[in-house]
Amino acid sequence: MRFISGIQPSGNITLGNYLGAVKNFVKLQDDPRFTDMLVFVADLHAITVPQEKLELRKNIKQLVALYLACGLDPEKCHIFIQSEVPHHAELGWCLQCNTYIGELERMTQYKDKKERQVAGVSSGLLTYPALMAADILLYDCDCVPVGVDQKQHLELTRDIAARFNNKYGETFKIPEPFIPEAGAKIMSLADPLKKMSKSDPNPKGYIALLDDINVAKKKIKSAVTDSDATIRYDLENKPGISNLLTIYSCCTGTSLKDTEAKFKDSSYALFKEAVADAVAAELEPIQKRYNEIINSKLIDEVLDNGRDYAIYLANKKLNKVYNKIGLGRKR
Ligand code: AMP
Repeated sequence: MRFISGIQPSGNITLGNYLGAVKNFVKLQDDPRFTDMLVFVADLHAITVPQEKLELRKNIKQLVALYLACGLDPEKCHIFIQSEVPHHAELGWCLQCNTYIGELERMTQYKDKKERQVAGVSSGLLTYPALMAADILLYDCDCVPVGVDQKQHLELTRDIAARFNNKYGETFKIPEPFIPEAGAKIMSLADPLKKMSKSDPNPKGYIALLDDINVAKKKIKSAVTDSDATIRYDLENKPGISNLLTIYSCCTGTSLKDTEAKFKDSSYALFKEAVADAVAAELEPIQKRYNEIINSKLIDEVLDNGRDYAIYLANKKLNKVYNKIGLGRKR
């Protein structure tokens, strides 16, 4: 089986991206069901909102170094940059022409981002799920490991694939989402009703993987909770505490049930201290490896290999699509 997933280089990736996505990619590398893995840097997606050129370049390289530092092994997993495989944009266009505006307008992420965008909403923000469908369908992926926020986009991908197959004949494999049981939605530390996001204007809301360890610990210790003083998992009434329980559970590999039992008689202060230590223990080795990798030749080597492999697969699929639609001359 093959999987694909990607992250936008639109800032410093967060503990949410790590626990909801990257940590699972690393686990799946050793799952014998998966014989082929593709992980990419979704730079074309990042430009749906304004990006500063130098910052974008820096974030792309940083994300690759972080993928490697978090444990992605280039021997097992092909890592590449989306814009270096032009087939994504080309298939994205073909799929956009088979997607209805009404479907795109229903996407909750579009509605949220549109609200937050102060100056001008790009049409890319609306059509981006068709590009995401292309990212997946180009490679006949069986499965896409993502956080809960991407579930709706993945359902749309399945609809687009089925519609295309219906119209033009069997072309695409219909992919399955793979959403982790825990950590699929890590919430903001400043507002536990909101998703932790790297584009949050309040840096206290998120922990970036490259945050100074003491800053990261401080953010956990000042996380918004409640005044009820009991530690239990209750998303509705205690979203802040539930979020910290999830973070502890994912960082340490302790089940949520055991985490709850462990801290049931603890004070909030001691509990937060333990969560802060667990996060620090997870981040420290990642940061150490990141510092070793960021200026090494490894990054370019990995990206060249990843790009060549992705182009090899994508080319076959795009030729098939162009032939099915009747574009250009027969290939
Ligand atoms: P993005 O940052 O939107 O490019 O998302 C990259 C991946 O991280 C996707 O699989 C998301 O579902 C996942 N992700 C983003 N934010 C979170 C979060 N707060 N909790 C869990 N997963 C997340």
